[in-house]
Amino acid sequence: MSDMTSSTGSENSELKLFDDSPVQLEPFQVEVVRSKKRRRTVSAQMHGDVLRVSIPSWMSKSEEASNVAEMVRRFKRKIATQEVDLTDRARILAKRYSLRTPDSIEWAENLTSVWGLCTPSTKTIRMSTRLVGFPSWVLDYVIIHELAHLHVSGHGPDFWEITRRYEKTERAIGYLIAKAGDTEDDNDVIDSRDAATP
Ligand SMILES: [Zn+2]
Repeated sequence: MSDMTSSTGSENSELKLFDDSPVQLEPFQVEVVRSKKRRRTVSAQMHGDVLRVSIPSWMSKSEEASNVAEMVRRFKRKIATQEVDLTDRARILAKRYSLRTPDSIEWAENLTSVWGLCTPSTKTIRMSTRLVGFPSWVLDYVIIHELAHLHVSGHGPDFWEITRRYEKTERAIGYLIAKAGDTEDDNDVIDSRDAATP
């Protein structure tokens, strides 16, 4: 059993590519499939231009709407992240600011409490996909912040001395603090481990 709902294309205007121009994402059709077998989980897959969202059959219309909106948002983020070559960006920034290059830097969908996370022992960095709509100079700051952790683990004065090689550090921190208080993302919680903000 399935029914078609109209695509929620209104979110397009919120997304920005990292060159600060709006992302030209094709609004995609959403198809909702109610499954009797599916008891708890909601899943979504792209089939051509159609995002097929599978939900449990018992779900109410309002639960359906919020789950579909979340899935649409996740897929738009996923599409937008594919536009950005993080490895290339990190390499350029590392060179420009005399920082170490990570062994890997990747987007992470499940990084909800922090903007970025660096694991110095493996020289790996993960970046929250929530950064997708933000201007390029903010993304650059978070990359530099995580690159700096390849040199210094904590957030002491020597750490900030490194991050302030980047001229827009203060401005980017202000931007991220404002975004963390944004009600648009329910799970936007600043984590003291690595919030990329002081
Ligand atoms: Zn940090």
